[in-house]
Amino acid sequence: MTKPTPFKVGQAYDSFAELLDQLWGENLHHGYWDDPPGDLTLEEATTRLTDKLAGLLTVKPGDHLLDIGCGIGEPAIRLAAAHDITGVGISIAEGQVERANNRAGAAGLAERLSFRVADAMDLPFPDESFDIVWALESLHHMPDRWHVIRQAARVLRPGGRLAIGDFLLRRVDGVPSDASSVDLVRMGALKLVELDEYRSHLREAGLVPEAAEDVSDRTRPSWGKAAERFEALREQALQHIGAEQFETTLSRFRQFDDEPAVGYVLLAARKP
Ligand code: SAH
Repeated sequence: MTKPTPFKVGQAYDSFAELLDQLWGENLHHGYWDDPPGDLTLEEATTRLTDKLAGLLTVKPGDHLLDIGCGIGEPAIRLAAAHDITGVGISIAEGQVERANNRAGAAGLAERLSFRVADAMDLPFPDESFDIVWALESLHHMPDRWHVIRQAARVLRPGGRLAIGDFLLRRVDGVPSDASSVDLVRMGALKLVELDEYRSHLREAGLVPEAAEDVSDRTRPSWGKAAERFEALREQALQHIGAEQFETTLSRFRQFDDEPAVGYVLLAARKP
């Protein structure tokens, strides 16, 4: 198995949209829990992760935002509702873009926020056109995340900020690991990188890393919660993906949960 192409990724998000809605809710990303996790629902915890990432940035009135890999628009809608900003979100999944635009309209934000289909590998925006570029749990899908980060640096204005939420390859007890107990990683379908590698690629792209929070222990409960929900959706899931794919997906949630080398990082960087 190799990395699926952007087109295939988009197709998968759209064809499993109904299932994803029930599995993750409006935010297609991890949740953030305290230690101990308490009784936050997955929805509450995923909203908190959006707020955590936003908290690494200074969002100023009038800022223009680009959301790379916008899902059904919830993180950008939350940001635009909280701040006097304008923005555009892109996704490779057509159905998501249509829903995101409808959701922005329903939130009364259509004049400030819009969504369109685009491939992040080839950002269709002029140089220096955004104050904030935001990529929450989307870069791991890209054929080359460093290329996307260079593109993000290109479209940022001087003084602009990049915010990233992404999977992370962690050392376990100080020892480097390849996370090969996770089949998607072993098969090359998911590439994970260490924090130092991340920082050096941000610098190579001309950005200055400003914040990096390893939130792995706060986001880890997401896997167990997702597995629990997925089991509860068994009947419906079987109709969409069949028994074999259902079991594979469930076992993947557990592999991620059991592999301490798979973590999660929130990053912020600035274009000088
Ligand atoms: N950031 C959103 C969605 C995360 S899911 C949220 O937090 O809710 C990953 C998103 O990345 C999906 O919207 C998917 O369509 C998008 N994506 C994946 N590959 C892409 C690519 N090459 N170009 C643009 N979007 C992409």
